[in-house]
Amino acid sequence: MSSEVANQDDRIPSSEPDGDAGPDPAWHAHEADAVVALLSSDAARGLDGTDAARRLERDGPNQLHQDAATPWWQLLLRQFTSPLIGILLVALVITIAIDELVDAAVIAAVLVLNAVIGFTQERKADRSVHALMELAAPKATVVRDGRERDVPATELVRGDVVALSSGVRVPADLKLLRATTLEVDESLLTGESLAARKDPTPDAETALPADRRSMCFLGTSVSSGRARGIVVATGTDTQLGRIAEEIRGQQRPDTPLQQRMHRFANLIALVVLASSALAFVLGIAMGGEVSEMFLTAVALAVAVVPEGLPVAFTVAMALGVHRMARRGAIIRSLPAVETLGSTDAIGSDKTGTLTANQMTVRRLWTAAGPAHVTRASDPPGDIDEAAARLTAGEDQLAETLRTGVLSNEAALVFDDGEVVDHRGDPTESALLEVAHHLGVEVTTVRDEAVVLADVPFESDLGFAAIVVDEDGPVQRVKGAPERIVERCTHVGTADGPVAIDPDEILTAAASMARDGLRVLAMAQRRLPADVGVDPNDPPAVEGLTCTGLIGMQDPPRAGVRDAIARVQEAGIRVLMITGDHAETARAIADDLGIGVGRPRALTGQDLQIMDDAALRAAIHEVDVFARVTPEHKLRVVHALQAHDQVVAVTGDGVNDGPALKAADIGVAMGRSGTDVAREASDMVLTDDAFVSIVSAVEEGRVVFDNVRKVTFFLLSTGVASIVAILAAMVAGLPLPYVPAALLWLNVVTNGLQDVALAFEPGEPDVLDHPPRARSEGIVSRQLWERTVLTGLTMAAGSMWLFTWAIGTGLDADQQRGAALTTLVVAMAAHVYNARSERRSILATGIAGNRFLLAATCTALVIHLAASAWGPTRFVLQIAPVTPAGWWRISLVALAVVGVSEAHKAWG
Ligand code: ADP
Ligand code: MG
Repeated sequence: MSSEVANQDDRIPSSEPDGDAGPDPAWHAHEADAVVALLSSDAARGLDGTDAARRLERDGPNQLHQDAATPWWQLLLRQFTSPLIGILLVALVITIAIDELVDAAVIAAVLVLNAVIGFTQERKADRSVHALMELAAPKATVVRDGRERDVPATELVRGDVVALSSGVRVPADLKLLRATTLEVDESLLTGESLAARKDPTPDAETALPADRRSMCFLGTSVSSGRARGIVVATGTDTQLGRIAEEIRGQQRPDTPLQQRMHRFANLIALVVLASSALAFVLGIAMGGEVSEMFLTAVALAVAVVPEGLPVAFTVAMALGVHRMARRGAIIRSLPAVETLGSTDAIGSDKTGTLTANQMTVRRLWTAAGPAHVTRASDPPGDIDEAAARLTAGEDQLAETLRTGVLSNEAALVFDDGEVVDHRGDPTESALLEVAHHLGVEVTTVRDEAVVLADVPFESDLGFAAIVVDEDGPVQRVKGAPERIVERCTHVGTADGPVAIDPDEILTAAASMARDGLRVLAMAQRRLPADVGVDPNDPPAVEGLTCTGLIGMQDPPRAGVRDAIARVQEAGIRVLMITGDHAETARAIADDLGIGVGRPRALTGQDLQIMDDAALRAAIHEVDVFARVTPEHKLRVVHALQAHDQVVAVTGDGVNDGPALKAADIGVAMGRSGTDVAREASDMVLTDDAFVSIVSAVEEGRVVFDNVRKVTFFLLSTGVASIVAILAAMVAGLPLPYVPAALLWLNVVTNGLQDVALAFEPGEPDVLDHPPRARSEGIVSRQLWERTVLTGLTMAAGSMWLFTWAIGTGLDADQQRGAALTTLVVAMAAHVYNARSERRSILATGIAGNRFLLAATCTALVIHLAASAWGPTRFVLQIAPVTPAGWWRISLVALAVVGVSEAHKAWG
């Protein structure tokens, strides 16, 4: 090619004006303006909405290949991998071998049913978890029709103008249009962990992707700074898209509860083998027939296997995920569901999570003295001293407000001269609002300002600095008072700048902070006019003159006080972790009732001189961590974990990633949080509210409780039937239940009820007891006792009816019918024992879970029908129970409730 221009012309396809055809031009080597033109876009106004929609239609969504869901056949096969299913398969083979074809058919049917239910349940759970995760999918800030707006990142198209700020995951491949102090972490692509500095200056045509400083690539993340860029490639056309194949398809690991379930299944398999073998040997030794003994062994195996457990388990987990989502917490990793239930400590951000992040300036301070600020909307009575002082010509106040307006990325939305809304950081919009309220023409001041350099606020930095041309360059800085004062040499007074007394200013700031106000200091200096200002290398922030302080109020979020009281009663500690001033944080923590007595605080400075051992020792004495950096947050998490605590931690910033990952439950903010934080988290709060964490903890406990209730119910069924079978054998009686009948009990009548039991709403006292130890098994020792006691009661009851039927000369079907119906009815009563681990059935009632009530009624009705209808009678080998049998059965049902009640009362 002879020239740059010819080169471009060559590649502009005639049909599609936005450069859709042919290989991509070397975007990185072009000037930003040229790229905008090539993509038929507009750097200031962005694309217009209809054009964007057309491009989306043409190019498809901005996403990498969907993570292939587990293929259906794999999911189906997986239903057969449990040892429990293995047992049933063996049982199937044996029944066929001994020619018990009816039982064999029933076992086969159960195997198929189990696989189908497990399969559909898992598919459903998988899908809904996926759908929920989409809710937490990344958004991108894009300029369209001349306005900034947030759209799902998948809707970006080539030519879109995108805004970047720290913590944002770059949503597509971009060519930079402009950038201020932009640094990007490209480790995902290049493996290089140092953040790369970026700016729009074209790169050499030969530069490799890793060296293209004027480009930002999908999947990398902004560590600091701000920028605008134009999308040059989306989805699979991006650099990441090309290598995405390599990082796809990791297997999701089992959750701890699933692992416990597997161990539990193995244990049961062992019990089955042992008891069947024992029964077989014992039976032969007692002179039984071999085929009869095989049948007994199969019955035992079928009795022990809790066929309904996997389905109930999946249902409980899926319900938990849904309930959490409804209450504002989206689970990104399944283990979090149960880990939440054993949370010991919650480390929470302050601003926006505990408080509303609705900042209102209440106090101004200059060397001339303090002033209270009231707003037009406040009740009248307070005098507006600040306005009075401004009118009287107090320069420091005017400068303080001006700095607040200029060093500011937020915007007010006006309607008819009234502020109706704001965009951006509430701390910054509060500064605009107070200036507007006191008569400063906010919009005009900002429009007229010629910005020479800009360092936006980052938590780590603690301040923001801008250089504006005001008859020569003036640096204006706002930030945390300590950070500002240490950079000041003077303080502004009515008589001009005088040497600073740092303590005076810090004392004034602390006194505002003690009232719970968030305090910012403003300072400035005039730069030498003859030295040019390089926007990519902003001048040092030093030698400033402090003009004043601004204190703003941030009310607690609704419901936070209550939520804190509730979790603290549940034995869960709440720690406030904030970048704010220690006194501000303490005042707010006190107001919210965090800790006992006056909250105790440590600051980042304190942490700096403490080693990990000292922090571990002190951590139980601290409620508030103030002026901390994300690094400190990580140390706090580790210190708590060193005490074997299960820790949930919130985070929103770029650098919160490590703490979120390290925590047992990393909680990211869905609204204010950055993509980086979201991706490192286990759970995302849709409304950023602390209350949602508490709800999630509560639901986590409910999930575990429900799994435990179902397990208890199924185990007592197992105990009842095994004991009855063994007892009959030892007593030399025939087998009281054929294998098909046991499957009927386990899969049909109990099956309905144990799935319904997974729907149990939480007990009112879920948050009344301390967190469950991580090591505690699914079934506690106390519940094991109750399992055995109630199981024995039901076995005895069933044998009572069986022997009674034999004794009164009823036929074999009637005998077995009596024995089986006793179990079915006793279970229908017993399932209400299982509804609560501690509370009496009189307290829980029976109507609280309407699914369960419906399941019980259905179970009883179909059992009655099955004992009367020919075909099912033939399969189950039973006959209806006589009236004389029914009152005995009712007694057994009462007895099992009585035993459980007694154990609840005295166990
Ligand atoms: P947190 O989010 O925990 O309240 P931050 O790191 O955001 O902590 O804020 C810490 C301190 O930095 C605040 O107390 C305030 O003094 C200052 N600060 C906060 N936001 C800004 C901002 N946009 N510009 C300048 N200073 C700020
Ligand atoms: Mg903040």
